[in-house]
Amino acid sequence: MIVCKFGGTSVQDADAMMRIAKIIEERRGLHPVVVSSAMGKTTNRLLEIARTASRGNQQAALDLLADLEDYHLREARKLAIAVSEDPVAEKINSYFKEMRDLVYGLSALCELTPRVSDAMASYGERLSTAILAQVLENQGIPAQLMDARQCIITDDQFVNANPLPGETEAAVARHLGPVLRDGRVPVFQGFIGSNREGVTTTIGRGGSDHSASLVGAALGAEEIQIWTDVDGIMTTDPRMVPGARRVKEISFNEAAELAYFGAKVLHPATILPAVRKNIPVRVLNSFKPDQEGTLITNETQPCENPVKAIAYKKGITVLHIASTRMLMAHGFLRRIFEIFDHYRVSVDVVSTSEVSVSLTVDETSTLWDLVTELKKIGEVNVEGSQAIVCCVGENLRNIPGVPHRVFSALEDIGIHMISQGASSINITFVIGEDSLTEAVQRLHDSLFRKTDPRIFV
Ligand code: ASP
Ligand code: MG
Repeated sequence: MIVCKFGGTSVQDADAMMRIAKIIEERRGLHPVVVSSAMGKTTNRLLEIARTASRGNQQAALDLLADLEDYHLREARKLAIAVSEDPVAEKINSYFKEMRDLVYGLSALCELTPRVSDAMASYGERLSTAILAQVLENQGIPAQLMDARQCIITDDQFVNANPLPGETEAAVARHLGPVLRDGRVPVFQGFIGSNREGVTTTIGRGGSDHSASLVGAALGAEEIQIWTDVDGIMTTDPRMVPGARRVKEISFNEAAELAYFGAKVLHPATILPAVRKNIPVRVLNSFKPDQEGTLITNETQPCENPVKAIAYKKGITVLHIASTRMLMAHGFLRRIFEIFDHYRVSVDVVSTSEVSVSLTVDETSTLWDLVTELKKIGEVNVEGSQAIVCCVGENLRNIPGVPHRVFSALEDIGIHMISQGASSINITFVIGEDSLTEAVQRLHDSLFRKTDPRIFV
């Protein structure tokens, strides 16, 4: 069997849902399980409604909710669903009634707890899958709407709950197994689960990939397909470099490194359950279903190009911390990192010399408190508007000449920090945001002038 996960844009309207029906129809023989996100930007809108209500703006929240209801009913009707008193229409109506009750409660109490936030957010996926299952049925595909809350069993960390592996695996197999054996296509909500007491939780924004990966791992899927609105993993951001190529195959490590640096295709931690079980993950474009996308596996294929892709992250601040007092003293780094820990600020790139340390952080609201604290141990220089650029390729550390190629493409661009070797698969450096586009374009020209046809399209 395979898992087919569809993101928000892949289910955003009636046309998108029809594309999915076709994709599933063509894969019937592979015994697909469908995992779906909420339609379009529904999750954002539900959270906005909850916040609006908890500020006491009951009417504004109800108006927003009515818009969301119109959107769902409109798209459902285009699919000939919810036109009369059918069960899906009843389901949609009762979900919106429950949400209105939540709005009344929130606006009376003027308080939004993480638990109620999850209750509200869960309707996005419950609505999209109720519609999607019916679309499949209407297209002659026997489908079964599942309740992910009976399968993804989590701890009590509402909003960012952690799935409990053993219990989740058992529950997924117990609920989905019979449906698959029956020749039906299970339609499963991404993102939502429940704690051991059965209270609804969510597993973090963008969590549907994680759900898909958990389902695939529990059922021993042959492949997990992540259907998105992009062609797959690209050699770099095509908006910045129009000549960017699609990468046909990439390793889990490379994909994780890229994801971390903002290649928004998929989040690395989310596919861990698949990685552990050695299940290939394929990223595909639901708008171009005939393309083969990018395959992510545990193996590294031979490739003539040492670098597979270039990622970047903007909005970075560099902190240079120098202390002659601390010259050669032990415990210097520990003291610095304790301060970062205290302010819960995570550090991306670090480089050190005997008397100084440079670090990058995402621009954050607590930056000035952090800097004030750091000034107690040394002189601190802050450089804003920086960008991290990261070249990723398996085994880069051991291929001679790569740093030379990278940095000679950037000759006249000021490089503020360099990090190489900590991980064998990346070369990372920091430059001013204003030279980012120029730098990435030149690097791409230099590293991908010739591309290995086995790996790039
Ligand atoms: N609908 C959820 C979100 O927007 C989960 C997902 O799309 O993966 O965060
Ligand atoms: Mg999403």
